[in-house]
Parts: sequence; structure tokens; C-alpha cells
Amino acid sequence: MRIIRTPASIYLFSISVIGLLFFTFLIKIPQHSDWIVMFALSGSILLLNYYTILIPPKGNSLSMDSSIYLASIFLFGLHSTLLVLLIYSVIFAIIQRKIAWWKHLFNFSVYSLMIICSYYAFILIDGFTGPISVKNIIPYLLSICTYFSLNLLLVGVYFVLEATENIINFFKEILKETTATYISTLVLSLVLVILMKPNHLFGLSLFTVIAFLLSLAFKQHFNLFKEISEKANKDFLTGLNNHGYFKEILEKEVTAAKENEQPLCVVIMDIDDFKKYNDLYGHIQGDHLLQEFGSLLKASSDAANYIVARYGGEEFSIIMPNTDRKTAYSFMNELRKKVNDTYYKGVEGLPYGCLSFSSGIAECEKETYSVSELLNKADQAMYAAKNQGKNLVQLYNGHSEYSVQRSLSLEKELEEAEFQLKIFLSKDVYTYRHSKRVYQYAVDFSRMLNLSVDERKTLILGALVHDIGKIEIPRDILNKKGSLDPHEWEFMKKHVTYGKDIISTNKKLEDLIPLVELHHERYDGNGYPYGLAGKSIPKLARILCVIDSFDAMTTERPYQKTKTFQEAIAELRHCSGKQFDPQFIEPFIAMIKEFETSGDEQHKEVAASIVN
Ligand code: GH3
Ligand code: MG
Ligand code: MG
Repeated sequence: MRIIRTPASIYLFSISVIGLLFFTFLIKIPQHSDWIVMFALSGSILLLNYYTILIPPKGNSLSMDSSIYLASIFLFGLHSTLLVLLIYSVIFAIIQRKIAWWKHLFNFSVYSLMIICSYYAFILIDGFTGPISVKNIIPYLLSICTYFSLNLLLVGVYFVLEATENIINFFKEILKETTATYISTLVLSLVLVILMKPNHLFGLSLFTVIAFLLSLAFKQHFNLFKEISEKANKDFLTGLNNHGYFKEILEKEVTAAKENEQPLCVVIMDIDDFKKYNDLYGHIQGDHLLQEFGSLLKASSDAANYIVARYGGEEFSIIMPNTDRKTAYSFMNELRKKVNDTYYKGVEGLPYGCLSFSSGIAECEKETYSVSELLNKADQAMYAAKNQGKNLVQLYNGHSEYSVQRSLSLEKELEEAEFQLKIFLSKDVYTYRHSKRVYQYAVDFSRMLNLSVDERKTLILGALVHDIGKIEIPRDILNKKGSLDPHEWEFMKKHVTYGKDIISTNKKLEDLIPLVELHHERYDGNGYPYGLAGKSIPKLARILCVIDSFDAMTTERPYQKTKTFQEAIAELRHCSGKQFDPQFIEPFIAMIKEFETSGDEQHKEVAASIVN
């Protein structure tokens, strides 16, 4: 047999050896042991290892064997308990011959160590074995705690070394899901001690029967939980994942894709002219069509390991993990063709004479701020596909016709935002003027960077409202002459979070959240509120950080000396790659120099012409 020396296997080996050594040194055949009781205890452990307690949500199973080991320690002491463990382990290993021997050995050693340590914890503070005694209460508790902690530690280290679990997640999950049930099974050992007092066998049988029935009850309970949670996640009509569950999965997939730096695409698709189909043949046939369409989608998506959901009504969505936009595009076009070529009852009545859908694809990028931003993009692309005549797949590119149409409303939105800002920031004239200047820089800089229509709009509006959270900061801090003390700085920093809260109340302004919340993040990760670094900071927030800082340096602030443009340019260069994303520094400086040569007044005029 080839031995693989991974940390986990070395750990397994060491614990097995240590456990075995301790067991061998400490086991003694007790002189007056009641063999029938020993075998009965081992038999109960065996039974309870089959009839475990299943705990939702994942169905972790918990055996009540620990109650028996602990009860045995309290009643009969160490030797008898180790003997019970030995009898049980031998019988179990014979029955479960298919399980690898080293797993049997590891389990045996872990239990040996837990039993030995719990026993010594018990007698260490004068616990004495025998029937239950109130004087033993502290030793009982210490022994139970030792058993619990050691179990968590010995098994936890294995999972962590196996790298199947992140250490924090492992303990979080265990503590959240199983602790209460596990501790109650340990405390039940005291109940077993009481039950066994009048008659060992009767008490043990009673306990085992109760534990067995409990196991059955928990199993029923767990099956019910599984059934209900499956129903809660599925769409009733098509059997696909429903909207809520889809978002839950998407959240996880996006996080995983970012962590592993893998591509991910999301698709939103909408059946074309479905209302017409309903009008022609009625809702019941419409439902049938949705079901058949759903089955086709599921078959194609399953084959590619994609996750499909009914997004709502006649809209569906697909999550494509580990898929770039090009692959997603060709997959969707093939699917489109397949749907067109499949005959569904009555489709000859539809405008194309076949079933068709329009769909939009958005690829998750490093700076994608939220799942809703991604869905928004897919949605916009889908509408662009509809606008271009339906039965089409459209990749989100920020230049879609839909975006252009939407940009027409930019001027109006700007006007509204500025009006509101003026009222909000009336107590803080510095911030109001600063916001307006930053906004003017954003107008010019977004044009210079050739941003897409949507990005431009977001940057400009974001620049205007980025400091909106300052309305929550007290006047005396805002207008304080001289530098702020640490406590005041901490308070001041909260404006980004306050700002996010304010912006979040309006769904229409959702795109601006990253700019408001993250414009004080630094490229090197030393910013606030999260300490994000590099490309994990959304691009527009990185751009805004440059503009915002430049204006802050060059204008009068209550707590800071003004820099000349030259000094500020030098500072931008000095902080390039530290505070700022280097790719935006030289273009921004070039723009500023251009203003300087063409005159500041002109700059203001240019900016103003865009507002009005
Ligand atoms: P477009 O090509 O622009 O998407 O046109 P459309 O007719 O598909 O879209 P519209 O939004 O006008 O209509 C959607 C229709 O889908 C209206 C609604 O009655 C129907 N619908 C939504 N959910 C269900 C459902 O569960 N069953 C049935 N039969 N129809 C549904
Ligand atoms: Mg629709
Ligand atoms: Mg439709």
C-alpha cells in the first residue's frame, strides 16, 4: 500500500498511535465487572450508532453513544468504560468490514482519548464514581466539557488539515447547528446514571428505547424539513429553482467566482410574445408551454453544469459558473436555435411561427459590486435584444441601445439630484461646493476616459452625491477649525456608510451605492470602510477616489491647508499605486494640465454646458 504523507494523514497516524498507547497503558480488566452490563452498554452504543439524530439543515447526524460512555465513566470508572469501548469497536469493525481499518483505528483512538481525559477531569476535582450525587455536580460538568471540547478539537483539526473546511467556518457551523443538540445528549448521560441506579439493565434499556424512538422522530422531522425546503426553493409550475433560491445561489456563485478568479455569466431570458400565446390558446395551454420550455432549458443547462431558474412569469435565468462571455454567447445562441426548431403546440400562431426568446448576458467582473448590479446588466441587455426585434441574444456591453435611450433621462435626473443635494447639504456649504466641483471633474474625466453611457451616468451622478452621508455628521465636526481628534475622525469616516443607507432607500439610485460607499477605499487596501484593495474596488469608485482627493487637496477645507495644482499633481503621483489606481493618474493629470493651459473659467463653462 502506498502511504501518502499529507498533514492530514500524519495527524491521523499520530492520533491513532497516541490513543492506542494510552489505551494499552490504562486498560485493565476490572475484577468484579458485570459482563452482562458491559455487553449491554456496548450493544446500546451499537444500536444508537445506527439510529442517530439528524439535524437540519444539512442532516449532520449525531449519535447518542456519548451519553452512554459518559454515564459509564460516572458509574463504573475508567477501566469498565474502556472495556465497553473495546467490545463495541471490535463488534463494529467486524460488522463494518468495508470501512478502512485505519478509520476504525482512528475512531477508536479518538474515543479512547476522550474517555481517558474526561475520566481524569472527573476525578481531578474529587469526583467519585457510583450512583448520582449532587456533590459531584462540578466534576460531572467538567468531565462533560472536557469530552465536548476534545471531540471538537480532535475531529476539527482533521477536517481543517484535509482542507475540506476553513477553520472559522467549521467551528461557526458546528457551533450554530449541532452544539445545542450535542450538549443535551452529553447532559443526558446524567439522566442515564439516574435511570440505571435501581436496575442497571432496566435503566439502560429504557434509555436506549427512548433514544431509539427519538431518532425515529428526528428522522421524520428531518425528512419533512427536507421536503418543505425543497418545495420552498422550487417553482411550482416548472419544477425549476424559483426566484428567491436563484438569488441565493447566485450570491454564492459570484462570491466563489471572485475568490477563485474564475469567469461567471448570468443570463436573463424572456419568452417573446407570450401574452399573444395566452390570448390565443388560454392560460392552461400557456402553462403547458412554460413547463415544456422549462424542461428543455433544464436539459440543456444540466448538460453544461449550469443552474437554471424561473425568474418570474415567462422570464427565466441561467447561472453559468466558470464560463466567459464568449462561451455563454455561443451556448445561448445554440439554445435559441434549439427552441426555434422545437415544435410546441400552437406556435404557428406566434409572429415568428415558432417559439422564441430574447436574452441578455452579463459577465461578472472583478469590480462587479453586487449581484443586483449583475442582474441589472443582464436585464438591460435583454431589453436591448427585445428592442432590436426579439429572438436575439445580446451581450451586455454598456453601449446597448437601451442604455442610450435611458441616457436621455440623465439631464433630468441630474437636475433633480442637484436640487435635492442643495437642500440636504445646506448646513454644510463646503461639502456642497466640493460635491459640485467633483461632479464637474467627473463630467470631463468620464468623457476623457471614454466610459460607456451607463458608466458615465453613474460616475457623474455618483460624484454629485458621493458625500451625501455628511448630513448625518454634526455641524461642529464638519466645520471644526483645525484638525479633528481621533474620535471625530472615526465619526467623520462613517459618512460613507450613512451615505449608502440614504442612497439605498431609492431603488433608482442603486447603481450609485458603490461610489458613495467605497470612494474612500484605497488601492493598497488601507482605506475604509472595508479595506478593499486593487480591482476588488469597483472601477468607478477608484476613479472617484482620484477626483475627490484632488479637489480635497486643492480647495480650502476647515481642517487642511490648500495645495496648489502643482503640489496636488505631485501628491497624486506620489500616492499612485498606494492610495490611487495608477491607470487613472496620468490621464487625470493630463486633463488638469489641459484646463490649466485653456484657463479655469473655460473649464467651468464646459462643465456647465453639460449640466444645463
Ligand atoms: P415580449 O415579447 O415583449 O416579452 O411580450 P410578451 O407578451 O411575452 O410580454 P408581456 O410582459 O406583455 O406579457 C407576459 C405575459 O406572460 C403576460 C402574462 O399573462 C403571462 N404569464 C406570466 N406568468 C404566467 C404563467 O404562469 N402562466 C401563463 N399561462 N402565463 C403567464
Ligand atoms: Mg416578461
Ligand atoms: Mg415576454
